[in-house]
Amino acid sequence: MEAADVVIVGGGIVGSSIAYHLTAAGCRSVLVIERETHQGKGSTGKSMGGVRAQFSTPVNIQMSLYSIPFYATFEERLGHPSGYRPQGYLFLATSAAHLNYLRTNYELQVKMGLKDVRLLPAEEIAGMYPQLRSDDIVGGSFCSSDGFVDPYSAMVGFMTRAAEQGARLLRDTEVTAIQRDARGIAGVETSRGPVATRTVVNAAGPWAAQVAKLAGVELPVEPLRRMLVPTEPFDAFPHSAPMIIDMSNGFHFRPEALGFLLAWNDPEETPGFKTEFDPAFVEKVLTRAAGRVPCFENVAVNPKRAWAGLYEMTPDHHPVLGPARGLPGFFLANGFSGHGVMHAPATGKILSDLILEGKSSLVDTRLFSLERFAEGHLLKETAVL
Ligand SMILES: Cc1cc2nc3c(=O)[nH]c(=O)nc-3n(C[C@H](O)[C@H](O)[C@H](O)COP(=O)(O)OP(=O)(O)OC[C@H]3O[C@@H](n4cnc5c(N)ncnc54)[C@H](O)[C@@H]3O)c2cc1C
Repeated sequence: MEAADVVIVGGGIVGSSIAYHLTAAGCRSVLVIERETHQGKGSTGKSMGGVRAQFSTPVNIQMSLYSIPFYATFEERLGHPSGYRPQGYLFLATSAAHLNYLRTNYELQVKMGLKDVRLLPAEEIAGMYPQLRSDDIVGGSFCSSDGFVDPYSAMVGFMTRAAEQGARLLRDTEVTAIQRDARGIAGVETSRGPVATRTVVNAAGPWAAQVAKLAGVELPVEPLRRMLVPTEPFDAFPHSAPMIIDMSNGFHFRPEALGFLLAWNDPEETPGFKTEFDPAFVEKVLTRAAGRVPCFENVAVNPKRAWAGLYEMTPDHHPVLGPARGLPGFFLANGFSGHGVMHAPATGKILSDLILEGKSSLVDTRLFSLERFAEGHLLKETAVL
Protein backbone atom coordinates (compact mmCIF):
# COMPACT_ATOMS: atom_id res chain seq x y z
CA MET A 1 0.00 0.00 0.00
CA GLU A 2 1.13 3.57 -0.74
CA ALA A 3 2.06 5.57 2.33
CA ALA A 4 3.18 9.15 3.01
CA ASP A 5 3.82 11.30 6.07
CA VAL A 6 1.69 14.05 4.54
CA VAL A 7 -0.96 13.78 1.80
CA ILE A 8 -1.99 17.05 0.14
CA VAL A 9 -5.33 16.96 -1.68
CA GLY A 10 -5.09 19.35 -4.65
CA GLY A 11 -2.12 20.30 -6.79
CA GLY A 12 -2.94 23.98 -7.45
CA ILE A 13 -0.66 26.80 -6.31
CA VAL A 14 -1.62 26.34 -2.65
CA GLY A 15 -0.97 22.58 -2.53
CA SER A 16 2.28 23.10 -4.45
CA SER A 17 3.50 25.82 -2.08
CA ILE A 18 2.71 23.66 0.95
CA ALA A 19 4.62 20.74 -0.64
CA TYR A 20 7.57 23.05 -1.29
CA HIS A 21 7.65 24.50 2.23
CA LEU A 22 7.26 21.09 3.88
CA THR A 23 10.08 19.53 1.87
CA ALA A 24 12.28 22.61 2.34
CA ALA A 25 11.81 22.15 6.10
CA GLY A 26 12.99 18.54 5.85
CA CYS A 27 9.71 16.61 5.59
CA ARG A 28 10.41 14.54 2.47
CA SER A 29 7.54 12.07 2.50
CA VAL A 30 4.93 14.31 0.89
CA LEU A 31 2.37 13.11 -1.63
CA VAL A 32 0.33 15.64 -3.64
CA ILE A 33 -2.81 14.15 -5.17
CA GLU A 34 -4.41 15.97 -8.11
CA ARG A 35 -7.47 14.62 -9.87
CA GLU A 36 -6.85 16.39 -13.18
CA THR A 37 -4.33 15.12 -15.72
CA HIS A 38 -2.49 18.45 -15.41
CA GLN A 39 -1.96 20.96 -12.65
CA GLY A 40 -3.56 24.39 -12.88
CA LYS A 41 -7.00 23.40 -14.13
CA GLY A 42 -8.67 24.72 -10.97
CA SER A 43 -8.64 28.39 -9.93
CA THR A 44 -4.90 28.82 -10.27
CA GLY A 45 -4.95 28.64 -14.07
CA LYS A 46 -7.84 31.14 -14.21
CA SER A 47 -6.35 33.79 -11.94
CA MET A 48 -5.57 37.40 -12.80
CA GLY A 49 -2.24 37.03 -11.00
CA GLY A 50 -2.52 40.21 -8.97
CA VAL A 51 -0.39 40.54 -5.81
CA ARG A 52 -0.82 43.36 -3.33
CA ALA A 53 -0.12 44.37 0.24
CA GLN A 54 -2.77 47.10 0.21
CA PHE A 55 -5.24 45.39 2.51
CA SER A 56 -7.26 46.65 5.46
CA THR A 57 -6.71 43.85 8.00
CA PRO A 58 -3.35 43.37 9.75
CA VAL A 59 -3.36 39.64 9.08
CA ASN A 60 -3.83 40.04 5.31
CA ILE A 61 -1.06 42.65 5.26
CA GLN A 62 1.21 40.21 7.13
CA MET A 63 0.43 37.47 4.61
CA SER A 64 1.47 39.83 1.80
CA LEU A 65 4.59 41.07 3.59
CA TYR A 66 5.86 37.48 3.50
CA SER A 67 4.50 36.55 0.09
CA ILE A 68 5.47 39.50 -2.12
CA PRO A 69 9.20 39.52 -1.21
CA PHE A 70 9.05 35.75 -1.67
CA TYR A 71 7.76 36.20 -5.23
CA ALA A 72 10.37 38.91 -5.84
CA THR A 73 13.16 36.44 -4.98
CA PHE A 74 11.40 33.33 -6.30
CA GLU A 75 13.88 32.56 -9.06
CA GLU A 76 16.89 32.82 -6.72
CA ARG A 77 15.20 30.55 -4.19
CA LEU A 78 13.59 27.99 -6.51
CA GLY A 79 15.43 28.31 -9.82
CA HIS A 80 12.17 29.00 -11.66
CA PRO A 81 10.51 32.32 -12.58
CA SER A 82 7.38 33.56 -10.77
CA GLY A 83 6.84 36.24 -13.40
CA TYR A 84 6.68 38.90 -10.66
CA ARG A 85 6.26 42.38 -12.17
CA PRO A 86 6.22 45.17 -9.56
CA GLN A 87 4.01 47.54 -11.53
CA GLY A 88 1.90 48.40 -8.52
CA TYR A 89 -1.77 48.64 -7.60
CA LEU A 90 -3.47 52.03 -7.89
CA PHE A 91 -6.77 52.51 -6.05
CA LEU A 92 -8.84 55.43 -7.37
CA ALA A 93 -11.09 57.09 -4.79
CA THR A 94 -14.18 58.92 -6.02
CA SER A 95 -15.68 59.93 -2.66
CA ALA A 96 -14.55 61.24 0.70
CA ALA A 97 -15.54 57.91 2.24
CA HIS A 98 -13.19 56.04 -0.14
CA LEU A 99 -10.41 58.45 0.64
CA ASN A 100 -10.84 58.04 4.39
CA TYR A 101 -10.84 54.30 3.92
CA LEU A 102 -7.59 54.43 1.90
CA ARG A 103 -6.00 56.75 4.47
CA THR A 104 -6.90 54.44 7.36
CA ASN A 105 -5.51 51.46 5.46
CA TYR A 106 -2.40 53.40 4.47
CA GLU A 107 -1.63 54.27 8.09
CA LEU A 108 -2.05 50.64 9.12
CA GLN A 109 0.07 49.37 6.22
CA VAL A 110 2.91 51.79 7.02
CA LYS A 111 2.72 50.94 10.72
CA MET A 112 3.09 47.28 9.81
CA GLY A 113 6.24 47.92 7.81
CA LEU A 114 5.05 48.40 4.23
CA LYS A 115 7.48 50.92 2.72
CA ASP A 116 6.29 51.38 -0.84
CA VAL A 117 2.75 52.64 -0.34
CA ARG A 118 1.78 56.30 -0.93
CA LEU A 119 -1.39 58.36 -0.88
CA LEU A 120 -1.71 60.30 -4.12
CA PRO A 121 -3.52 63.59 -4.70
CA ALA A 122 -6.02 63.66 -7.57
CA GLU A 123 -3.81 65.94 -9.70
CA GLU A 124 -0.90 63.54 -9.51
CA ILE A 125 -3.08 60.66 -10.69
CA ALA A 126 -4.42 62.74 -13.57
CA GLY A 127 -0.83 63.62 -14.52
CA MET A 128 0.33 60.00 -14.37
CA TYR A 129 -2.54 58.66 -16.48
CA PRO A 130 -4.19 61.43 -18.48
CA GLN A 131 -6.17 58.68 -20.28
CA LEU A 132 -8.28 58.21 -17.12
CA ARG A 133 -11.50 60.16 -16.73
CA SER A 134 -10.50 62.05 -13.60
CA ASP A 135 -13.20 64.66 -13.02
CA ASP A 136 -14.63 62.64 -10.11
CA ILE A 137 -11.32 61.28 -8.73
CA VAL A 138 -10.55 62.79 -5.31
CA GLY A 139 -7.29 60.91 -4.65
CA GLY A 140 -5.89 57.42 -4.44
CA SER A 141 -3.28 55.11 -3.06
CA PHE A 142 -0.44 53.41 -4.87
CA CYS A 143 2.01 50.74 -3.78
CA SER A 144 4.92 50.17 -6.13
CA SER A 145 5.84 46.68 -4.88
CA ASP A 146 2.32 45.41 -5.55
CA GLY A 147 1.94 44.01 -9.05
CA PHE A 148 1.42 40.73 -10.88
CA VAL A 149 2.85 37.22 -11.02
CA ASP A 150 2.38 34.36 -13.45
CA PRO A 151 0.31 31.94 -11.31
CA TYR A 152 0.95 28.91 -13.52
CA SER A 153 4.70 29.48 -13.56
CA ALA A 154 4.83 29.97 -9.78
CA MET A 155 2.78 26.80 -9.22
CA VAL A 156 5.11 24.80 -11.46
CA GLY A 157 8.13 26.33 -9.72
CA PHE A 158 6.84 25.30 -6.30
CA MET A 159 5.99 21.76 -7.41
CA THR A 160 9.20 21.21 -9.38
CA ARG A 161 11.38 22.19 -6.44
CA ALA A 162 9.18 20.23 -4.03
CA ALA A 163 9.70 17.15 -6.24
CA GLU A 164 13.46 17.72 -6.28
CA GLN A 165 13.27 17.80 -2.48
CA GLY A 166 11.41 14.49 -2.28
CA ALA A 167 7.70 15.23 -2.81
CA ARG A 168 5.68 13.17 -5.28
CA LEU A 169 2.77 14.33 -7.44
CA LEU A 170 0.06 11.86 -8.43
CA ARG A 171 -2.00 13.30 -11.28
CA ASP A 172 -5.24 11.97 -12.72
CA THR A 173 -6.04 10.64 -9.25
CA GLU A 174 -9.05 11.67 -7.19
CA VAL A 175 -9.30 11.46 -3.43
CA THR A 176 -12.66 9.76 -2.92
CA ALA A 177 -12.68 9.09 0.83
CA ILE A 178 -10.78 10.06 3.97
CA GLN A 179 -10.39 7.45 6.68
CA ARG A 180 -10.38 8.18 10.38
CA ASP A 181 -9.66 6.02 13.40
CA ALA A 182 -9.48 6.64 17.14
CA ARG A 183 -6.21 8.61 16.72
CA GLY A 184 -7.54 10.86 13.96
CA ILE A 185 -6.71 10.69 10.24
CA ALA A 186 -5.76 7.17 9.14
CA GLY A 187 -5.50 7.46 5.36
CA VAL A 188 -7.20 8.37 2.10
CA GLU A 189 -8.91 6.33 -0.57
CA THR A 190 -8.18 7.38 -4.14
CA SER A 191 -9.29 6.38 -7.62
CA ARG A 192 -5.98 4.48 -7.81
CA GLY A 193 -6.17 2.81 -4.41
CA PRO A 194 -5.58 3.57 -0.74
CA VAL A 195 -2.80 5.68 0.78
CA ALA A 196 -1.88 5.32 4.45
CA THR A 197 -1.13 8.61 6.20
CA ARG A 198 -1.63 10.36 9.53
CA THR A 199 -1.75 13.85 8.00
CA VAL A 200 -4.03 15.15 5.25
CA VAL A 201 -4.04 18.74 3.98
CA ASN A 202 -7.13 20.00 2.19
CA ALA A 203 -5.87 22.24 -0.65
CA ALA A 204 -8.80 21.62 -2.95
CA GLY A 205 -9.58 25.25 -3.85
CA PRO A 206 -13.27 25.80 -4.70
CA TRP A 207 -13.96 22.10 -4.02
CA ALA A 208 -12.64 22.37 -0.45
CA ALA A 209 -16.03 21.92 1.23
CA GLN A 210 -16.53 18.61 -0.60
CA VAL A 211 -13.11 17.33 0.47
CA ALA A 212 -13.72 18.46 4.06
CA LYS A 213 -16.99 16.58 4.02
CA LEU A 214 -15.11 13.37 3.16
CA ALA A 215 -13.50 13.76 6.58
CA GLY A 216 -16.80 14.66 8.24
CA VAL A 217 -15.86 18.34 8.61
CA GLU A 218 -18.26 21.19 7.71
CA LEU A 219 -16.32 23.94 5.93
CA PRO A 220 -18.07 27.17 4.88
CA VAL A 221 -16.29 27.65 1.53
CA GLU A 222 -18.44 28.43 -1.50
CA PRO A 223 -17.48 28.68 -5.17
CA LEU A 224 -18.28 32.04 -6.80
CA ARG A 225 -17.81 32.69 -10.51
CA ARG A 226 -15.49 35.48 -11.63
CA MET A 227 -14.97 36.45 -15.28
CA LEU A 228 -12.08 38.10 -17.10
CA VAL A 229 -12.03 39.69 -20.55
CA PRO A 230 -8.70 40.16 -22.35
CA THR A 231 -8.54 42.85 -25.01
CA GLU A 232 -6.91 42.56 -28.39
CA PRO A 233 -3.54 44.38 -28.71
CA PHE A 234 -4.06 47.95 -27.54
CA ASP A 235 -1.47 50.67 -26.98
CA ALA A 236 -3.50 53.79 -26.25
CA PHE A 237 -2.87 53.13 -22.52
CA PRO A 238 0.68 52.55 -21.18
CA HIS A 239 1.74 48.95 -20.67
CA SER A 240 3.80 49.96 -17.67
CA ALA A 241 0.51 50.69 -15.83
CA PRO A 242 -0.33 49.12 -12.49
CA MET A 243 -3.51 47.24 -11.65
CA ILE A 244 -5.97 50.15 -11.56
CA ILE A 245 -9.07 49.87 -9.42
CA ASP A 246 -12.04 52.19 -9.88
CA MET A 247 -13.51 52.26 -6.38
CA SER A 248 -16.79 53.76 -7.64
CA ASN A 249 -17.86 50.41 -9.09
CA GLY A 250 -15.05 47.85 -8.60
CA PHE A 251 -13.96 47.81 -12.26
CA HIS A 252 -10.24 46.99 -12.47
CA PHE A 253 -7.76 46.31 -15.23
CA ARG A 254 -4.12 45.64 -15.83
CA PRO A 255 -1.80 45.26 -18.81
CA GLU A 256 -1.53 41.72 -20.16
CA ALA A 257 0.60 40.73 -23.16
CA LEU A 258 -0.08 43.32 -25.91
CA GLY A 259 -3.48 44.27 -24.51
CA PHE A 260 -5.26 44.57 -21.18
CA LEU A 261 -7.17 42.27 -18.88
CA LEU A 262 -10.54 43.72 -17.82
CA ALA A 263 -12.35 42.63 -14.66
CA TRP A 264 -15.42 43.53 -12.70
CA ASN A 265 -17.11 41.64 -9.91
CA ASP A 266 -20.76 41.44 -10.79
CA PRO A 267 -22.65 41.87 -7.49
CA GLU A 268 -25.49 39.82 -8.95
CA GLU A 269 -23.37 36.69 -9.33
CA THR A 270 -24.59 33.83 -7.14
CA PRO A 271 -22.56 30.94 -5.63
CA GLY A 272 -22.23 27.69 -7.56
CA PHE A 273 -19.91 25.65 -9.75
CA LYS A 274 -20.46 27.82 -12.83
CA THR A 275 -17.38 27.86 -15.01
CA GLU A 276 -18.86 28.82 -18.37
CA PHE A 277 -18.20 32.39 -19.57
CA ASP A 278 -21.39 34.44 -19.94
CA PRO A 279 -21.15 36.48 -23.19
CA ALA A 280 -23.45 39.14 -21.67
CA PHE A 281 -20.56 40.00 -19.32
CA VAL A 282 -18.56 41.57 -22.18
CA GLU A 283 -20.89 44.53 -22.46
CA LYS A 284 -21.10 44.93 -18.70
CA VAL A 285 -17.34 45.15 -18.28
CA LEU A 286 -16.79 47.28 -21.40
CA THR A 287 -19.35 49.84 -20.21
CA ARG A 288 -17.43 50.24 -16.97
CA ALA A 289 -14.09 50.24 -18.78
CA ALA A 290 -15.11 53.04 -21.14
CA GLY A 291 -16.67 54.94 -18.24
CA ARG A 292 -13.28 55.23 -16.52
CA VAL A 293 -10.90 55.06 -19.50
CA PRO A 294 -12.64 56.74 -22.47
CA CYS A 295 -10.14 55.37 -25.01
CA PHE A 296 -11.31 51.85 -24.09
CA GLU A 297 -14.41 52.71 -26.11
CA ASN A 298 -12.37 51.70 -29.14
CA VAL A 299 -10.82 48.58 -27.66
CA ALA A 300 -11.51 45.27 -29.44
CA VAL A 301 -12.23 42.10 -27.48
CA ASN A 302 -12.80 38.57 -28.65
CA PRO A 303 -15.34 36.88 -26.34
CA LYS A 304 -13.88 33.51 -27.32
CA ARG A 305 -10.69 34.41 -25.45
CA ALA A 306 -12.55 35.48 -22.30
CA TRP A 307 -12.87 33.05 -19.41
CA ALA A 308 -14.54 32.31 -16.10
CA GLY A 309 -13.14 30.73 -12.94
CA LEU A 310 -14.13 30.24 -9.33
CA TYR A 311 -13.26 32.25 -6.25
CA GLU A 312 -13.44 30.20 -3.02
CA MET A 313 -15.41 32.42 -0.66
CA THR A 314 -15.69 32.27 3.13
CA PRO A 315 -18.23 34.31 5.12
CA ASP A 316 -15.55 36.85 6.17
CA HIS A 317 -13.42 36.73 3.00
CA HIS A 318 -10.41 35.42 4.87
CA PRO A 319 -8.94 31.94 4.52
CA VAL A 320 -9.25 29.00 6.85
CA LEU A 321 -5.74 27.84 7.74
CA GLY A 322 -4.67 25.20 10.20
CA PRO A 323 -5.91 22.07 11.95
CA ALA A 324 -9.57 21.09 12.15
CA ARG A 325 -10.27 20.91 15.87
CA GLY A 326 -11.37 17.44 16.96
CA LEU A 327 -9.77 15.62 14.03
CA PRO A 328 -6.01 15.23 14.62
CA GLY A 329 -4.04 15.21 11.39
CA PHE A 330 -6.59 17.07 9.24
CA PHE A 331 -5.37 20.49 8.06
CA LEU A 332 -7.17 23.15 6.04
CA ALA A 333 -5.70 25.63 3.54
CA ASN A 334 -8.86 26.95 1.97
CA GLY A 335 -11.22 29.84 1.31
CA PHE A 336 -8.80 32.47 -0.03
CA SER A 337 -11.71 34.54 -1.36
CA GLY A 338 -9.76 35.75 -4.39
CA HIS A 339 -6.29 36.02 -2.80
CA GLY A 340 -4.94 32.48 -3.04
CA VAL A 341 -2.23 33.24 -5.57
CA MET A 342 -0.85 36.26 -3.75
CA HIS A 343 -0.97 34.49 -0.38
CA ALA A 344 0.26 31.06 -1.50
CA PRO A 345 3.85 31.59 -0.25
CA ALA A 346 2.73 32.59 3.26
CA THR A 347 0.17 29.79 3.30
CA GLY A 348 2.82 27.20 2.45
CA LYS A 349 5.05 28.47 5.25
CA ILE A 350 2.22 28.59 7.82
CA LEU A 351 0.93 25.09 7.01
CA SER A 352 4.44 23.66 7.05
CA ASP A 353 5.08 25.29 10.46
CA LEU A 354 1.77 24.05 11.88
CA ILE A 355 2.21 20.49 10.60
CA LEU A 356 5.84 20.10 11.64
CA GLU A 357 6.03 22.27 14.77
CA GLY A 358 2.44 22.80 15.88
CA LYS A 359 2.75 26.60 15.67
CA SER A 360 3.71 29.41 13.30
CA SER A 361 5.15 32.81 14.08
CA LEU A 362 4.23 34.29 10.70
CA VAL A 363 0.68 35.26 11.75
CA ASP A 364 -1.62 34.68 14.71
CA THR A 365 -3.12 31.51 13.25
CA ARG A 366 -6.04 31.54 15.70
CA LEU A 367 -7.50 34.31 13.54
CA PHE A 368 -7.74 31.86 10.62
CA SER A 369 -9.26 28.97 12.56
CA LEU A 370 -12.33 27.18 11.28
CA GLU A 371 -13.92 27.60 14.70
CA ARG A 372 -14.12 31.40 14.32
CA PHE A 373 -17.33 31.04 12.32
CA ALA A 374 -19.13 29.05 15.02
CA GLU A 375 -17.67 31.29 17.75
CA GLY A 376 -18.58 34.51 15.94
CA HIS A 377 -14.99 35.86 15.72
CA LEU A 378 -15.15 36.86 12.09
CA LEU A 379 -12.50 39.03 10.44
CA LYS A 380 -13.54 42.01 8.35
CA GLU A 381 -11.78 42.88 5.09
CA THR A 382 -13.54 45.29 2.82
CA ALA A 383 -10.89 45.58 0.08
CA VAL A 384 -11.99 42.45 -1.75
CA LEU A 385 -11.47 42.38 -5.51
C1 LIG B 1 -11.02 34.99 -12.45
C2 LIG B 1 -10.14 34.86 -11.23
C3 LIG B 1 -9.22 35.85 -10.94
C4 LIG B 1 -8.41 35.73 -9.81
N1 LIG B 1 -7.48 36.71 -9.56
C5 LIG B 1 -6.65 36.58 -8.50
C6 LIG B 1 -5.62 37.53 -8.28
O1 LIG B 1 -5.49 38.51 -9.02
N2 LIG B 1 -4.78 37.33 -7.23
C7 LIG B 1 -4.92 36.25 -6.39
O2 LIG B 1 -4.14 36.13 -5.45
N3 LIG B 1 -5.88 35.34 -6.57
C8 LIG B 1 -6.75 35.48 -7.60
N4 LIG B 1 -7.72 34.55 -7.81
C9 LIG B 1 -7.91 33.48 -6.81
C10 LIG B 1 -6.87 32.41 -6.97
O3 LIG B 1 -6.84 31.98 -8.32
C11 LIG B 1 -7.20 31.23 -6.04
O4 LIG B 1 -7.39 31.73 -4.72
C12 LIG B 1 -6.05 30.23 -6.01
O5 LIG B 1 -5.72 29.82 -7.32
C13 LIG B 1 -6.43 29.02 -5.16
O6 LIG B 1 -5.44 28.04 -5.34
P1 LIG B 1 -5.69 26.57 -4.84
O7 LIG B 1 -4.45 25.81 -5.11
O8 LIG B 1 -6.22 26.62 -3.45
O9 LIG B 1 -6.92 26.05 -5.73
P2 LIG B 1 -6.95 25.40 -7.19
O10 LIG B 1 -6.00 26.04 -8.12
O11 LIG B 1 -8.39 25.38 -7.58
O12 LIG B 1 -6.43 23.93 -6.93
C14 LIG B 1 -7.24 22.98 -6.26
C15 LIG B 1 -6.98 21.66 -6.94
O13 LIG B 1 -7.61 20.63 -6.20
C16 LIG B 1 -7.99 19.62 -7.11
N5 LIG B 1 -8.99 18.77 -6.46
C17 LIG B 1 -10.21 19.13 -6.00
N6 LIG B 1 -10.82 18.09 -5.44
C18 LIG B 1 -9.96 17.02 -5.51
C19 LIG B 1 -10.02 15.66 -5.08
N7 LIG B 1 -11.09 15.16 -4.47
N8 LIG B 1 -8.94 14.86 -5.34
C20 LIG B 1 -7.85 15.34 -5.95
N9 LIG B 1 -7.74 16.64 -6.38
C21 LIG B 1 -8.79 17.46 -6.15
C22 LIG B 1 -8.52 20.40 -8.29
O14 LIG B 1 -8.52 19.66 -9.48
C23 LIG B 1 -7.56 21.59 -8.35
O15 LIG B 1 -6.51 21.42 -9.27
C24 LIG B 1 -8.53 34.62 -8.94
C25 LIG B 1 -9.45 33.60 -9.25
C26 LIG B 1 -10.25 33.72 -10.37
C27 LIG B 1 -11.23 32.63 -10.68
